[in-house]
Amino acid sequence: MQAKTHPEELINYLTDASNMPGGYAERVLFPQTAADVAAALLDASDAGVGVTIAGARTGTVGGAIPFGGVVISMERMNRIVSIDKAAMTATVEPGVILADLAKAVETEGLFYPPDPTEWSCQVGGTVATNASGARSFKYGATRDYVIGLTLALADGDFLDLSRDENISDESGQIELVTRGGRTITVRGSTYKRPDVRKNVSGYFNARPFDAIDLFIGSEGTLGVITEIRLKLLPKSESFFSGIVFFARHDDLLAFVDDAKALSFDCGVGLGASLIEYFDDRSLAFIHEQFPETPAGMAGAIFFEQETTAETEDGLFEAWNTLLEKHHADLDGSWFTTTEQDREKMRAFRHALPVAVNERVVRNGQKKIGTDMAVPDSTFAGFLKYQKQMLDASKIDYVIFGHIGDCHLHANLLPKDDDEAMRSRHLYGRFVAQAIMVGGTVSAEHGIGKLKSKYLYVMMGERYLNEMAEIKRALDPNWILGRGNLLAVDDLQ
Ligand SMILES: Cc1cc2nc3c(=O)[nH]c(=O)nc-3n(C[C@H](O)[C@H](O)[C@H](O)COP(=O)(O)OP(=O)(O)OC[C@H]3O[C@@H](n4cnc5c(N)ncnc54)[C@H](O)[C@@H]3O)c2cc1C
Repeated sequence: MQAKTHPEELINYLTDASNMPGGYAERVLFPQTAADVAAALLDASDAGVGVTIAGARTGTVGGAIPFGGVVISMERMNRIVSIDKAAMTATVEPGVILADLAKAVETEGLFYPPDPTEWSCQVGGTVATNASGARSFKYGATRDYVIGLTLALADGDFLDLSRDENISDESGQIELVTRGGRTITVRGSTYKRPDVRKNVSGYFNARPFDAIDLFIGSEGTLGVITEIRLKLLPKSESFFSGIVFFARHDDLLAFVDDAKALSFDCGVGLGASLIEYFDDRSLAFIHEQFPETPAGMAGAIFFEQETTAETEDGLFEAWNTLLEKHHADLDGSWFTTTEQDREKMRAFRHALPVAVNERVVRNGQKKIGTDMAVPDSTFAGFLKYQKQMLDASKIDYVIFGHIGDCHLHANLLPKDDDEAMRSRHLYGRFVAQAIMVGGTVSAEHGIGKLKSKYLYVMMGERYLNEMAEIKRALDPNWILGRGNLLAVDDLQ
């Protein structure tokens, strides 16, 4: 197996999209097979050396950043093993790039819904973080599409899991039998999960729960994903998409409420697959790249609607009526039914987090972006609270994201260390407020290293200790993903 040890060769593997500083490692390994992964893990386990698993390093919470030990990069395990058109499933190695998978299934007339905005990530990375994104409004997160996983465990043994085949008992206890015949007993955490549409804070738990769900979203701490089986859907015939602008923020929020209610009411036809939000500052932030954006707007919504030849006209009409009702700027708004223009709209959406990440790097600061989701009933108040606090702070910021799921990203853009300190302080207040109104600290990006202290605030020591027990059962020498989710200082 190839290994790189020269400092210059390591640089790219010491960081991710979080811009978190200080990463270091002895070497990076490039397995090409599951057996290579198992061998690397066995060595590391014997030596007690930490292992950080690296996907494409597009994660925003430092999960793939090593602080010592070895990095296992999954980039060379990048084969699409098979696509079964009739069964609507795909089997892939973890290093397959999400965009490549999407293209490959599309040519078969199929569709893989998870869409975490950044298409250069690896499928394994999206499973490890249970990534979601805009389309989760209609289609759910990555978890909903994973039907099989193979994992290399810390001691080099393998675990083969298929959905619905290994369910815990009512108390949350489950027995996992490895390929080598070992039985590992795990008890799911008793933490009561918040009632939000999206949540990736901590190991998945429910009573009873499916073994496969424990590993989805476990952020490289319980095993290395070496193969993934995915459920696919039929590709939609056509789309109608819009980026619509509003002069008044209250109109925008009322439009979203109605669009959501109608989308959930399956009887009426209108049904958005995504509803995305941009505040006024977001529009200004990328105005240079998109000068056709109308001036003086309070915000914008990007929506998509799947259509067929039969439903198209009725759906245009339904959206138009809704937009008129809520006083959208119909002349300035953008609509399309073509794939080419749809790509431009997606580029508009993608441009924002990219521009934010570039600004963070240019300012020489760490990313300070929220990923909190709150219940529908507390969303409007939570957004208002954030905006008021941010305006009062005079620190640059933009807010955008998945408003359909009550999940926005408030990105603070401090210019110097003083603003960075005040931004972190504000972030802490947002965490407290989100928890207080029944929300979660991470809806989709994960906890990684950057947010482990907020997981502690959300869950408290008792539940973190329950999670630590799960980790100890699967990784007794604590070699995998050290510092992700569970900061050792927070444990008993
Ligand atoms: C511009 C931008 C926009 C984004 N928007 C969204 C969004 O809308 N929604 C969303 O959900 N996310 C979003 N993300 C972040 C998202 O988490 C990543 O894009 C993706 O899910 C991580 O994949 P990766 O291959 O880059 O993994 P990495 O960043 O390399 O790793 C992420 C974590 O997974 C672990 N891991 C990776 N591969 C494996 C494996 N094979 N086995 C076990 N563990 C593994 C790592 O150890 C790490 O803890 C965005 C990122 C960027 C840069």
